[in-house]
Amino acid sequence: MRMTRVAAAAAAAALALTVAACGGDDGGDADTGAGSKDFEAGTTMARLNEAQKIVIGTKFDQPGFGLKGLDNKPAGFDVEIGKIIAGELGIPEDKIEYIETPSAVREEVLEQGKADIVVATYTINDKRKERIDFAGPYYVAGQHIMVRSDDSSITGPDSFKAGDKKVCSVQGSTPGDNIKQYLANPASPGEQLVLFDGYQKCVDALTNGQVDAVTTDNVILLGYVANSDGKFKLTGEKFTEEPYGIGVKKGDTAFRDFINDTLEKIYADGRYEKAWKDTAGKFDENVPQGPAVNRY
Ligand code: GLU
Repeated sequence: MRMTRVAAAAAAAALALTVAACGGDDGGDADTGAGSKDFEAGTTMARLNEAQKIVIGTKFDQPGFGLKGLDNKPAGFDVEIGKIIAGELGIPEDKIEYIETPSAVREEVLEQGKADIVVATYTINDKRKERIDFAGPYYVAGQHIMVRSDDSSITGPDSFKAGDKKVCSVQGSTPGDNIKQYLANPASPGEQLVLFDGYQKCVDALTNGQVDAVTTDNVILLGYVANSDGKFKLTGEKFTEEPYGIGVKKGDTAFRDFINDTLEKIYADGRYEKAWKDTAGKFDENVPQGPAVNRY
Protein backbone atom coordinates (compact mmCIF):
# COMPACT_ATOMS: atom_id res chain seq x y z
CA MET A 1 0.00 0.00 0.00
CA ARG A 2 1.38 3.43 -0.96
CA MET A 3 0.93 6.32 1.44
CA THR A 4 1.64 9.97 0.87
CA ARG A 5 3.95 11.68 3.36
CA VAL A 6 1.05 13.70 4.75
CA ALA A 7 -1.12 10.62 5.19
CA ALA A 8 1.73 8.76 6.84
CA ALA A 9 2.31 11.64 9.24
CA ALA A 10 -1.40 11.81 10.05
CA ALA A 11 -1.50 8.08 10.67
CA ALA A 12 1.51 8.30 12.97
CA ALA A 13 -0.09 11.17 14.88
CA ALA A 14 -3.34 9.24 15.22
CA LEU A 15 -1.43 6.23 16.49
CA ALA A 16 0.37 8.37 19.03
CA LEU A 17 -2.96 9.76 20.25
CA THR A 18 -4.44 6.29 20.56
CA VAL A 19 -1.46 5.08 22.55
CA ALA A 20 -1.71 8.13 24.80
CA ALA A 21 -5.44 7.54 25.35
CA CYS A 22 -4.91 3.90 26.21
CA GLY A 23 -2.18 4.61 28.70
CA GLY A 24 -3.93 7.76 29.89
CA ASP A 25 -4.05 8.80 33.51
CA ASP A 26 -7.76 9.00 34.31
CA GLY A 27 -9.01 6.49 31.74
CA GLY A 28 -11.24 8.96 29.95
CA ASP A 29 -15.01 9.16 30.28
CA ALA A 30 -17.08 7.07 27.87
CA ASP A 31 -15.85 3.78 29.25
CA THR A 32 -16.70 4.41 32.87
CA GLY A 33 -20.03 3.96 34.61
CA ALA A 34 -22.11 0.92 35.46
CA GLY A 35 -23.06 -1.22 32.53
CA SER A 36 -21.26 0.90 30.00
CA LYS A 37 -20.16 -1.04 26.93
CA ASP A 38 -18.32 -0.19 23.78
CA PHE A 39 -20.84 0.22 20.98
CA GLU A 40 -20.20 2.04 17.76
CA ALA A 41 -21.10 5.69 18.14
CA GLY A 42 -24.40 6.67 16.60
CA THR A 43 -25.98 3.22 16.88
CA THR A 44 -29.15 2.45 18.82
CA MET A 45 -27.03 0.18 21.02
CA ALA A 46 -24.75 3.11 21.96
CA ARG A 47 -27.72 5.40 22.58
CA LEU A 48 -29.54 2.92 24.85
CA ASN A 49 -26.38 1.97 26.71
CA GLU A 50 -25.55 5.60 27.28
CA ALA A 51 -29.10 6.33 28.49
CA GLN A 52 -29.02 3.23 30.72
CA LYS A 53 -32.70 2.78 29.94
CA ILE A 54 -34.82 0.84 27.48
CA VAL A 55 -38.55 0.78 26.80
CA ILE A 56 -39.90 -2.66 25.91
CA GLY A 57 -43.36 -3.23 24.48
CA THR A 58 -44.93 -6.53 25.53
CA LYS A 59 -48.25 -8.15 26.37
CA PHE A 60 -49.75 -7.81 29.84
CA ASP A 61 -52.53 -10.41 29.58
CA GLN A 62 -50.89 -13.54 28.18
CA PRO A 63 -49.81 -16.20 30.70
CA GLY A 64 -46.44 -17.72 29.83
CA PHE A 65 -45.35 -14.90 27.51
CA GLY A 66 -46.26 -11.58 29.07
CA LEU A 67 -48.59 -11.39 32.06
CA LYS A 68 -48.66 -8.54 34.52
CA GLY A 69 -48.36 -9.90 38.05
CA LEU A 70 -49.41 -8.62 41.47
CA ASP A 71 -46.05 -6.86 41.66
CA ASN A 72 -47.22 -4.81 38.66
CA LYS A 73 -44.47 -6.20 36.44
CA PRO A 74 -44.99 -8.40 33.41
CA ALA A 75 -43.51 -11.92 33.42
CA GLY A 76 -43.13 -14.56 30.73
CA PHE A 77 -40.94 -15.83 27.91
CA ASP A 78 -41.15 -12.58 25.92
CA VAL A 79 -40.24 -10.62 29.03
CA GLU A 80 -37.21 -12.87 29.62
CA ILE A 81 -36.08 -12.37 26.01
CA GLY A 82 -36.45 -8.61 26.54
CA LYS A 83 -34.39 -8.74 29.75
CA ILE A 84 -31.62 -10.68 28.01
CA ILE A 85 -31.44 -8.12 25.20
CA ALA A 86 -31.36 -5.29 27.75
CA GLY A 87 -28.60 -7.11 29.64
CA GLU A 88 -26.54 -7.46 26.45
CA LEU A 89 -26.96 -3.71 26.01
CA GLY A 90 -25.52 -3.20 29.49
CA ILE A 91 -28.89 -2.16 30.95
CA PRO A 92 -29.94 -3.70 34.27
CA GLU A 93 -33.43 -5.15 34.79
CA ASP A 94 -34.57 -2.32 37.02
CA LYS A 95 -33.90 0.17 34.21
CA ILE A 96 -36.36 -1.50 31.85
CA GLU A 97 -39.67 0.25 31.36
CA TYR A 98 -42.43 -2.03 30.07
CA ILE A 99 -45.37 -0.70 28.13
CA GLU A 100 -48.38 -2.76 27.15
CA THR A 101 -48.55 -3.38 23.41
CA PRO A 102 -51.78 -5.11 22.41
CA SER A 103 -51.73 -6.67 18.94
CA ALA A 104 -53.12 -3.72 16.99
CA VAL A 105 -50.71 -1.05 18.25
CA ARG A 106 -47.33 -2.78 17.88
CA GLU A 107 -46.25 -1.22 14.57
CA GLU A 108 -47.32 2.28 15.55
CA VAL A 109 -45.56 2.09 18.92
CA LEU A 110 -42.28 1.37 17.09
CA GLU A 111 -42.88 3.93 14.37
CA GLN A 112 -43.53 6.62 16.96
CA GLY A 113 -40.49 5.64 19.02
CA LYS A 114 -42.63 4.88 22.09
CA ALA A 115 -40.81 1.56 22.53
CA ASP A 116 -37.26 0.62 21.58
CA ILE A 117 -38.19 -3.02 20.97
CA VAL A 118 -41.46 -4.96 20.90
CA VAL A 119 -41.35 -8.54 22.17
CA ALA A 120 -45.01 -9.53 22.15
CA THR A 121 -45.90 -12.87 20.49
CA TYR A 122 -45.33 -10.87 17.32
CA THR A 123 -45.59 -12.85 14.08
CA ILE A 124 -43.10 -11.86 11.39
CA ASN A 125 -44.87 -11.17 8.11
CA ASP A 126 -44.40 -9.07 4.98
CA LYS A 127 -47.24 -6.69 5.69
CA ARG A 128 -45.76 -5.74 9.05
CA LYS A 129 -42.30 -5.53 7.51
CA GLU A 130 -43.52 -2.64 5.38
CA ARG A 131 -43.68 -0.56 8.57
CA ILE A 132 -41.11 -2.06 10.95
CA ASP A 133 -38.28 -4.60 10.97
CA PHE A 134 -37.95 -7.89 12.81
CA ALA A 135 -35.04 -9.68 14.43
CA GLY A 136 -35.59 -13.39 14.88
CA PRO A 137 -37.56 -15.56 14.72
CA TYR A 138 -36.90 -16.78 18.26
CA TYR A 139 -39.92 -19.11 18.41
CA VAL A 140 -42.44 -20.61 16.00
CA ALA A 141 -46.03 -20.90 17.23
CA GLY A 142 -49.15 -21.91 15.28
CA GLN A 143 -52.78 -20.85 15.25
CA HIS A 144 -55.09 -23.09 17.28
CA ILE A 145 -58.63 -23.05 18.69
CA MET A 146 -59.73 -23.13 22.34
CA VAL A 147 -63.25 -24.14 23.42
CA ARG A 148 -65.10 -24.97 26.63
CA SER A 149 -64.11 -28.45 27.82
CA ASP A 150 -67.65 -29.84 27.48
CA ASP A 151 -67.91 -28.78 23.83
CA SER A 152 -67.27 -31.45 21.19
CA SER A 153 -68.99 -29.64 18.31
CA ILE A 154 -65.93 -27.64 17.22
CA THR A 155 -63.11 -29.79 15.89
CA GLY A 156 -61.10 -27.31 13.80
CA PRO A 157 -61.48 -24.12 11.78
CA ASP A 158 -63.88 -25.80 9.32
CA SER A 159 -66.43 -26.06 12.13
CA PHE A 160 -67.13 -22.35 11.64
CA LYS A 161 -68.26 -22.78 8.02
CA ALA A 162 -71.88 -23.58 8.95
CA GLY A 163 -72.17 -20.13 10.47
CA ASP A 164 -73.76 -21.08 13.80
CA LYS A 165 -70.62 -20.79 15.98
CA LYS A 166 -69.06 -17.59 17.22
CA VAL A 167 -65.31 -17.20 17.49
CA CYS A 168 -63.32 -14.52 19.27
CA SER A 169 -59.89 -13.13 18.44
CA VAL A 170 -57.99 -9.85 18.64
CA GLN A 171 -57.88 -6.79 16.40
CA GLY A 172 -54.67 -6.47 14.42
CA SER A 173 -53.64 -10.09 15.03
CA THR A 174 -52.79 -12.61 12.33
CA PRO A 175 -55.22 -15.27 13.69
CA GLY A 176 -58.07 -12.72 13.75
CA ASP A 177 -57.46 -12.10 10.08
CA ASN A 178 -56.79 -15.69 9.06
CA ILE A 179 -59.92 -17.17 10.64
CA LYS A 180 -62.16 -15.12 8.31
CA GLN A 181 -61.69 -17.54 5.40
CA TYR A 182 -63.29 -20.31 7.50
CA LEU A 183 -66.46 -18.37 8.29
CA ALA A 184 -69.83 -18.75 6.56
CA ASN A 185 -69.37 -15.32 5.00
CA PRO A 186 -65.67 -14.40 4.87
CA ALA A 187 -66.28 -11.01 3.28
CA SER A 188 -68.58 -9.89 6.06
CA PRO A 189 -67.93 -11.86 9.25
CA GLY A 190 -70.67 -9.96 11.12
CA GLU A 191 -71.37 -11.36 14.55
CA GLN A 192 -69.67 -14.66 13.87
CA LEU A 193 -66.26 -13.09 14.51
CA VAL A 194 -65.85 -11.02 17.65
CA LEU A 195 -62.64 -8.97 17.77
CA PHE A 196 -61.48 -7.41 21.04
CA ASP A 197 -58.32 -5.46 21.80
CA GLY A 198 -56.86 -8.20 24.03
CA TYR A 199 -57.17 -11.94 24.52
CA GLN A 200 -58.34 -11.84 28.15
CA LYS A 201 -61.58 -10.28 26.91
CA CYS A 202 -62.05 -13.24 24.56
CA VAL A 203 -61.40 -15.63 27.44
CA ASP A 204 -64.06 -13.86 29.51
CA ALA A 205 -66.51 -14.04 26.61
CA LEU A 206 -65.85 -17.78 26.28
CA THR A 207 -66.43 -18.25 30.00
CA ASN A 208 -69.73 -16.35 29.80
CA GLY A 209 -70.94 -18.26 26.76
CA GLN A 210 -70.98 -15.13 24.57
CA VAL A 211 -68.70 -16.90 22.11
CA ASP A 212 -68.05 -20.59 21.38
CA ALA A 213 -64.32 -20.44 20.73
CA VAL A 214 -61.18 -18.33 20.98
CA THR A 215 -58.54 -18.52 18.30
CA THR A 216 -54.94 -17.41 18.43
CA ASP A 217 -51.50 -19.01 18.77
CA ASN A 218 -51.32 -22.41 20.48
CA VAL A 219 -48.85 -21.26 23.14
CA ILE A 220 -51.03 -18.33 24.19
CA LEU A 221 -54.07 -20.59 24.44
CA LEU A 222 -52.12 -23.22 26.40
CA GLY A 223 -51.53 -20.63 29.11
CA TYR A 224 -55.25 -19.90 29.34
CA VAL A 225 -56.11 -23.61 29.39
CA ALA A 226 -53.62 -24.19 32.22
CA ASN A 227 -55.16 -21.37 34.26
CA SER A 228 -58.78 -22.36 33.59
CA ASP A 229 -59.30 -25.06 36.23
CA GLY A 230 -60.28 -27.51 33.54
CA LYS A 231 -62.88 -25.24 31.94
CA PHE A 232 -61.12 -24.91 28.57
CA LYS A 233 -59.32 -27.21 26.13
CA LEU A 234 -57.64 -26.95 22.75
CA THR A 235 -59.42 -28.63 19.85
CA GLY A 236 -58.06 -29.96 16.55
CA GLU A 237 -54.55 -29.25 15.33
CA LYS A 238 -52.62 -26.03 14.86
CA PHE A 239 -53.17 -24.80 11.34
CA THR A 240 -50.66 -22.01 10.66
CA GLU A 241 -47.03 -21.14 11.38
CA GLU A 242 -46.43 -18.02 13.44
CA PRO A 243 -42.71 -17.19 13.65
CA TYR A 244 -42.21 -14.73 16.50
CA GLY A 245 -39.89 -11.79 15.90
CA ILE A 246 -38.60 -8.85 17.90
CA GLY A 247 -39.87 -5.64 16.39
CA VAL A 248 -37.48 -2.71 15.89
CA LYS A 249 -37.78 0.57 14.04
CA LYS A 250 -37.71 0.15 10.28
CA GLY A 251 -34.27 0.43 8.75
CA ASP A 252 -32.28 -0.09 11.96
CA THR A 253 -30.19 -2.90 10.54
CA ALA A 254 -27.34 -2.58 13.03
CA PHE A 255 -29.74 -3.00 15.96
CA ARG A 256 -31.49 -5.91 14.25
CA ASP A 257 -28.10 -7.59 13.66
CA PHE A 258 -27.18 -7.04 17.30
CA ILE A 259 -30.42 -8.71 18.47
CA ASN A 260 -29.94 -11.59 16.02
CA ASP A 261 -26.39 -12.07 17.34
CA THR A 262 -27.81 -12.08 20.87
CA LEU A 263 -30.37 -14.75 19.96
CA GLU A 264 -27.69 -16.98 18.45
CA LYS A 265 -25.59 -16.50 21.57
CA ILE A 266 -28.39 -17.50 23.96
CA TYR A 267 -29.40 -20.51 21.85
CA ALA A 268 -25.87 -21.78 22.40
CA ASP A 269 -25.20 -20.83 26.03
CA GLY A 270 -28.37 -22.20 27.65
CA ARG A 271 -30.05 -18.89 28.49
CA TYR A 272 -32.74 -19.45 25.83
CA GLU A 273 -33.64 -22.86 27.24
CA LYS A 274 -33.68 -21.55 30.79
CA ALA A 275 -35.94 -18.64 29.80
CA TRP A 276 -38.39 -21.12 28.27
CA LYS A 277 -38.35 -23.55 31.20
CA ASP A 278 -38.92 -20.73 33.71
CA THR A 279 -41.93 -19.34 31.85
CA ALA A 280 -43.95 -20.80 28.94
CA GLY A 281 -42.29 -24.17 29.60
CA LYS A 282 -44.62 -24.52 32.59
CA PHE A 283 -47.47 -24.94 30.08
CA ASP A 284 -45.57 -26.54 27.22
CA GLU A 285 -42.76 -28.89 28.19
CA ASN A 286 -41.36 -29.16 24.65
CA VAL A 287 -38.29 -27.00 24.91
CA PRO A 288 -38.02 -25.33 21.50
CA GLN A 289 -34.89 -25.44 19.40
CA GLY A 290 -34.06 -21.83 18.77
CA PRO A 291 -35.08 -21.34 15.13
CA ALA A 292 -32.50 -20.04 12.66
CA VAL A 293 -32.61 -16.26 12.62
CA ASN A 294 -33.49 -14.62 9.33
CA ARG A 295 -31.06 -11.82 8.47
CA TYR A 296 -33.14 -10.63 5.55
N1 GLU B 1 -48.75 -14.10 16.74
C1 GLU B 1 -49.99 -13.51 16.32
C2 GLU B 1 -49.81 -12.06 15.94
O1 GLU B 1 -48.75 -11.55 15.97
C3 GLU B 1 -51.06 -13.66 17.37
C4 GLU B 1 -50.68 -13.27 18.75
C5 GLU B 1 -50.91 -11.81 19.04
O2 GLU B 1 -51.98 -11.30 18.70
O3 GLU B 1 -50.03 -11.24 19.65
O4 GLU B 1 -50.72 -11.39 15.56
